[in-house]
Amino acid sequence: MRSVLYPGSFDPVTVGHMDLIRRASALFERVVVGVLHNTQKPLQAFSIEQRISLLQEAASGLINVEVCAYSGLLVDAVRQSNVDGVLRGLRAGMDFDMEQQMARLNRQMAGVETVFLAASPSVLHISASMVREVGRLGGDLRGLVPDSVRERITDTLGGRSKEGETHG
Ligand code: ADP
Repeated sequence: MRSVLYPGSFDPVTVGHMDLIRRASALFERVVVGVLHNTQKPLQAFSIEQRISLLQEAASGLINVEVCAYSGLLVDAVRQSNVDGVLRGLRAGMDFDMEQQMARLNRQMAGVETVFLAASPSVLHISASMVREVGRLGGDLRGLVPDSVRERITDTLGGRSKEGETHG
């Protein structure tokens, strides 16, 4: 496998995502980060444009990494991005069952294979939902999101919570 699509919602990008992207960029010739544009889930903290822009800035030093939006079936996005397979990260047991099911489904539907990278111990506990919660409550996001985009993420989450948006 020479090229992979790494799909997710990246709402927003975390140091956990970047750990995976950095390691994948050393393993594969081409890494396409696919940001899910989910119109069924409008209550995302960051717009699709913001999520893409944050990822592009965070990954700007990695020349074989591209960021794009996708919607609909993952197997269709794999075909459209012209990659060999899918990359996903595994943190703990909670990821495992769901990921296995999705990987099997994608293989059965379209012969698309999935490769998994185990999360580095230092980022095992980090999720985008936790970052959103900490940011909305005014906590320091140092070490949770990439330094280069920390201020933008902090401003957006803090600004939103002041407008009285509900958590979710
Ligand atoms: P999250 O689960 O943080 O909301 P996404 O839904 O955007 O993130 O997930 C995209 C991919 O990134 C998934 O494969 C997920 O397992 C992986 N991932 C998320 N956080 C981490 C982390 N801390 N370490 C490794 N992989 C992660």
